Amino acid sequence: MRKINVTVWNEGFHERESEKVRSVYPEGIHGCIASFLKEDEELGTIRAFTMYDEEQGFKEEDLADTDVLIYWAHCCHGQIEDQYVNRIYNHVTKRGMGLILLHSGHASKIFEKLCGTQTGALRWRESNDKERVWVIEPQHPICHNLPEYFELPAEETYGERFVIPTPDALVFMSWFSGGEVFRSGICYNRGYGKIFYFRPGHETFPTYYDANVQQVIKNACKWAAPTNFPKMQTGWTASLENK
Ligand code: ZN
Repeated sequence: MRKINVTVWNEGFHERESEKVRSVYPEGIHGCIASFLKEDEELGTIRAFTMYDEEQGFKEEDLADTDVLIYWAHCCHGQIEDQYVNRIYNHVTKRGMGLILLHSGHASKIFEKLCGTQTGALRWRESNDKERVWVIEPQHPICHNLPEYFELPAEETYGERFVIPTPDALVFMSWFSGGEVFRSGICYNRGYGKIFYFRPGHETFPTYYDANVQQVIKNACKWAAPTNFPKMQTGWTASLENK
């Protein structure tokens, strides 16, 4: 069976600017995610880029060989050039490349363009709350090999309302020890592409070392990868039957 090629993209700003973030992720968030994905035998070529790479890490030849793009971004959304946003959009909608948006990727240009949300607005707070992630759809492929719920001892808090269109599937709901709840695992279909947003992963917490979080991201890569779908015709069509 053909293996799934994954590109891990991280804006990379915090690792450059913050000693604290470098101490948590010495190889960068992208390096951490790429390293645990490389352990999965169903996954093929794992690439990792940041916005400081050539063409901001979105070269056509790399995207064309990518089945699933993982996207972590926080404070540089506005710096991503529209030509690359459009390039990602086309790969998702026309070719079926999967897109996994992590944590503050909800405010990225590509999420806005694909999902129609104008702000991706939500409540937030950095107060080291515990996060309890509940599995809502146990039969969903993204929930494979997970417990009924799992906990992250400290994370940034996100709370409803999360200003998004109603998801096609809601697979995780988070509760925080400060009292908030949040739709933390959501799926959309756009064009031929599958999109998954997964909330945990603030840059100052070791969230991407957590075994359950790693399982979610591996599962999501397999769910979001394009299948060998038939070419679908649209427009004027001749009758298939002789009347
Ligand atoms: Zn954050």
